[in-house]
Amino acid sequence: MASLITCPHCGTRPKEEFSIRGDATVVRPSPKASDEDWYAYVFVRDNPRGMVKEYWHHVGGCRRFLAVERDNVTHEVFAVTDAAAVAKEAAR
Ligand SMILES: [Zn+2]
Repeated sequence: MASLITCPHCGTRPKEEFSIRGDATVVRPSPKASDEDWYAYVFVRDNPRGMVKEYWHHVGGCRRFLAVERDNVTHEVFAVTDAAAVAKEAAR
């Protein structure tokens, strides 16, 4: 069975239309943060097995950035939201 992602704008599409853009759980440090905090933000990532939240870019569709929650072992997708909505919620 093909891996499918349901874009909130375009509907259900094959994963080949999307590009993974990285961990969506990383929080950008303040401009005055230490060099160590910036180093960790830019270069250090966990490599979890199981549930992950990642940014995906719908390159072959609406070109919006999405936040995708999925299991990286089974490739089951649990939630897809527009990344702009996630950013607005985080800014509150
Ligand atoms: Zn789309």
